[in-house]
Amino acid sequence: MKKKVAFKTLGCRLNQYETDALVSQFQENGYESVSFEKEADVYVINSCTVTHQSDHKSRNFINQVNRRKPDSVLVVTGCMANNAKEELENKSEINYVVENDQKSSVFSLVEAHYKGEIIHPSNLNSDLFSYQSTSKGFHTRSMVKIQDGCDNFCTFCIIPSVRGRAVSRAVSDIIKNIKTLISNGAKEIVLTGVNIGRYNFKETNFDDLVEKILELEGDFRLRISSIEPDGFGDKFLNLLNHPKMTPHLHLCLQSGSESILMQMRRMYTVKRFKEIVTKIKTQNPYFNITTDIIIGFPNESNEDFKASCQLIKELNFGHVHTFKYSIRKGTRAERMPNQIDEHIKTKRSKILRGISKDVKIEYRRSFIGKDQVVLVEKIENDKAKGYGENYIPIEFHGRNIKINQFYKLKITDISNDSDDPILRGELI
Ligand code: SF4
Repeated sequence: MKKKVAFKTLGCRLNQYETDALVSQFQENGYESVSFEKEADVYVINSCTVTHQSDHKSRNFINQVNRRKPDSVLVVTGCMANNAKEELENKSEINYVVENDQKSSVFSLVEAHYKGEIIHPSNLNSDLFSYQSTSKGFHTRSMVKIQDGCDNFCTFCIIPSVRGRAVSRAVSDIIKNIKTLISNGAKEIVLTGVNIGRYNFKETNFDDLVEKILELEGDFRLRISSIEPDGFGDKFLNLLNHPKMTPHLHLCLQSGSESILMQMRRMYTVKRFKEIVTKIKTQNPYFNITTDIIIGFPNESNEDFKASCQLIKELNFGHVHTFKYSIRKGTRAERMPNQIDEHIKTKRSKILRGISKDVKIEYRRSFIGKDQVVLVEKIENDKAKGYGENYIPIEFHGRNIKINQFYKLKITDISNDSDDPILRGELI
C-alpha cells in the first residue's frame, strides 16, 4: 500500500513553491498526497514566523497533527524551524526540525528514517535551489525560485535571520527550469524568492534576467510575484510592457509616511514609490499594483496612519494586504520606544481594511467592458474559473473549456457580495 504524506504550508509564496516541489518529489517516489486533516504516515509542516500570528498558527498546526498512526513521522521545517529551533526540538511529538537551508532534503530524511537510519537534519545536504521541478499540472501557475535570503535588514523583519543572506540562483539553472516547465505545458511562470529585485548572479541583475526569460519561445506568460520597490531598474519597468509580461506587481509599500519608512529602514521614499507607480500607470492605466501595509509600527502617529490611508486612495491599488505590526525578537524595532497599543492597531486596521476594500472594488469595476485573457484553473458545474492577466479572479460559462488553457473574454459584470469580488465575463 502507498505511504501517505500530508503537508501544511504557512506564509509566503516561496514556502508554497518549496512545498509544491517537495510534494512532487514524494509523489514521484510512490507516496500519496492527502489533506492535512487525514490520517497519514508523514506530516510536514512548512512553518512561518513573519508575525506573531504566523507563530501562533504554526504552533496550532503542530498540536493538531492527527496522529492516529503511532509511528507516523512529523517534520517541522520553514522559518519557525530556524527561529524557534530549540523550543521545537524539545517537543517530543516532533521527529525532525529541519532548517530552511536543508528543506530541499526532507524527502531523503524521511526515506532514511524508514530505512532505520538516524540522520540529524543538520547533516543533510544544504542547498537552497536543489528542489526538483514541480510536476506537470500540479498548479496552473508554475513558480520558479530565483533567489533566497535578504540583505536589507528592515528594522521590523526577522526574515534575514531565518532565511539568511541574499543568494541568487544560476541564470542557466533558472532558464533550464523554465524551459522544462514550458515544454511540460506550463502557461504561466511566476518568479519567486525573498527579495527578487536584488537578484544578482555574476553579471546578470534582475532586469537582465527578466529580459532573458521574456526572450524564451513558447505560449506562456510571466508573472512577477512580490517585489520590493528598491532593487530593479528602469529597464525592468520598460519590460512591464512586453506582451508576455502580466500587468501585475505586488509592490511592497509598508507605510505611506516618509518618517515611518525611514524608521523601518526601507530603501525607498514615498516620493520614489509614487514615481514608480506613476511610470507604470502612465504606460498602462489598468496595470494592477497590489501592496502590503504594516499597521501600528512603533511611533506611528495618527498623521502617519492618515498618510498611509491617503496614499492608498491616491494610488488606486488593486488589493492591499494589511497586517498589524508585531514584535519579532532580535529585530531593531523590538527595542524601539513608543510601541503602539493593540487596541489602536485594531482600530486602524479596521479603517484601512475598509478603505482597501472600496479601492479594490472600484479598481475591479473599471474592467467592465474590457477584455481579459483568463488562464482556467478549475471548472465547476460548467463554470470556469481562473485569473486574468491583471491577476483578478474571473469566472465564465462555456462548453468544452479546458483547464490550463487561455480564453479571451469580455468582462460583463462583477459579483458584489464579498471582500474579494469576482469578475464575470463572456467568451469572445
Ligand atoms: S526587504 Fe525587508 S521586509 Fe523584505 S525580506 Fe528583506 S528585510 Fe524583510
